[in-house]
Amino acid sequence: MGDMEKVRDLIEEADAVCVLTGAGISAESGIPTFRGKDGLWRKKDPTRLASIDAFMANPEEVWEFYHWRRRLISKVTYNRGHSALVELERKKQDFTLITQNVDGLHSEAGSRNLIEIHGNIWWVRCIECGERYEERDLELPPLPRCGHCGGLLRPDVVFFGESLNRELLDRCYQALTSCEVMLVIGTSSNVQPAASFSLVAKEAGASLVEINLEPTPYSRYMDYNLFGKAGDILPMLVAENIKEDN
Ligand code: NAD
Ligand code: ZN
Repeated sequence: MGDMEKVRDLIEEADAVCVLTGAGISAESGIPTFRGKDGLWRKKDPTRLASIDAFMANPEEVWEFYHWRRRLISKVTYNRGHSALVELERKKQDFTLITQNVDGLHSEAGSRNLIEIHGNIWWVRCIECGERYEERDLELPPLPRCGHCGGLLRPDVVFFGESLNRELLDRCYQALTSCEVMLVIGTSSNVQPAASFSLVAKEAGASLVEINLEPTPYSRYMDYNLFGKAGDILPMLVAENIKEDN
């Protein structure tokens, strides 16, 4: 039996499944990852631009980067990888999808029990009064202002250098420690604490499956490594009566 079939069986038999996704699952929708060369905006390192230090030093430039990303994301939609996870959720009693993505494509596809640990690019937060709200306008001014107090708004995402929301993290640990199978999809596993979520699940007894184009620093902890595009592999793992080529 090939790895593909073994993983299909593993998923089929499990009642509790937890999934962690990263930028790779949205790459096939046309959203650049941060670590690929096409992730560059004006030849600047996105991991620096998406940082709290950069925002404090030069909010206008960081907003320009986010205005660009918002426009780009507004033009694309979810893909077969996102849809396969919606189907998987329908089949399972206990299913949690943890995403590092801020693009909102998992909820657009129809995922329900979703934890967006790095926030959502369509939400803003006031740095003065703390108010958060959804803001989908693509023509915001270069430095958008709060509708309540006039303070400076920021994207309601977790910048590099910031800590994660405690309540969301607790929900993640609950899912990680109770799942039987965990899928780690399209993440370079360079950003903590998400990168080590797989180890938490493994420690609690879960089988780990990584789906990525290439090996990552965490590949060696996985029970199975499936190399290829998430949009090709996930439908094969989830859909019924699919003929496999491999
Ligand atoms: P990353 O850019 O560090 O890594 C992307 C990973 O996906 C790589 O390991 C790559 O090999 C893999 N990959 C690329 N195409 C793939 C495909 N078609 N199928 C399967 N795997 C594929 O992304 P990350 O690990 O998510 O970390 C980046 C951080 O930046 C995250 O915190 C995230 O919030 C943010 N980010 C989000 C988006 C988004 O919302 N779409 C995009 C870029 C970055
Ligand atoms: Zn305000």
